[in-house]
Amino acid sequence: MFATLSDRLADTFKNLRGKGRLSEADIDATAREIRIALLEADVALPVVKEFTAAIKERARGEEVSQALNPAQQIVKIVNEELVEILGGETRRLRYAKTGPTVIMLAGLQGAGKTTLAAKLALWLKEQGKSPLLVACDLQRPNAVNQLQVNGERVGVPVFAPEPGNGVGNPVAVAQASIEEAKRTLHDVVIVDTAGRLGVDAEMMQQAKDIRAAVNPDEVLFVVDAMIGQDAVNTALAFQEGVGFDGVVLTKLDGDARGGAALSIRSITGKPVMFASAGEKMTDFDLFHPDRMAGRILD
Ligand code: GDP
Repeated sequence: MFATLSDRLADTFKNLRGKGRLSEADIDATAREIRIALLEADVALPVVKEFTAAIKERARGEEVSQALNPAQQIVKIVNEELVEILGGETRRLRYAKTGPTVIMLAGLQGAGKTTLAAKLALWLKEQGKSPLLVACDLQRPNAVNQLQVNGERVGVPVFAPEPGNGVGNPVAVAQASIEEAKRTLHDVVIVDTAGRLGVDAEMMQQAKDIRAAVNPDEVLFVVDAMIGQDAVNTALAFQEGVGFDGVVLTKLDGDARGGAALSIRSITGKPVMFASAGEKMTDFDLFHPDRMAGRILD
């Protein structure tokens, strides 16, 4: 589809072998190629600018290695910087010291929250936890049912308002779920909340009210990697409206290049913690910065 950064730089550096240091012109040419590669990967412009400036700074001080060709050397630097910004090591979930750990999911409708809730539940089960799924998306017709179907697929119970009572109060459901978890000895509560197609004041207020009511140990912002550049504005709106501790990128099985990961991390300062990549319940893993760096550059 796109030329990789290595291909681009190989052209730029055709005549460079054997030079001791990159000239200012080489560095400018390099920066231009990196900029294009990052923009093609859907990284937000302010992040691209900042990143490119940092790479230029670092490249100025570098000796041209005899072992690597200059293009490989720059790709290595870019890769290291990307991994660094993406968070270095993966951040782990924080569990509550006492009582059930509460994980609240927030994000736009269609981001993949309901699917992710079940995937996360399965993953937690495999870590030896006993999760309870909680249906607080009472807005979207069928969301409760969808969570129940997914819950059944992963063998995790779902706490939901009684059928026929679907217009219930999501804050009350969230609160009641904590009591239910204590009573039934579930140690992690995963609260699925309502999303909208776009950022919406009422949705944000509801998420905020649920957050205030259950005081989650982790609020995870769930975002579709395919929305590319829009991911940053959505993340900022959720950061301001509800606040979150970590990010889950979904639909990484699509052809999104993953620039959203870099943009969100740089602009909100919050780590991407999990990656969701498919419709199967097992298509889910911890986020690996090194893999994402590779994806952004390829
Ligand atoms: P919600 O509105 O945020 O709860 O989103 P859903 O969980 O209902 O997901 C919206 C659509 O995206 C559904 O058709 C899901 O099957 C699909 N989906 C969710 N996660 C993934 C994923 O990682 N990869 C792919 N390809 N599809 C996904």
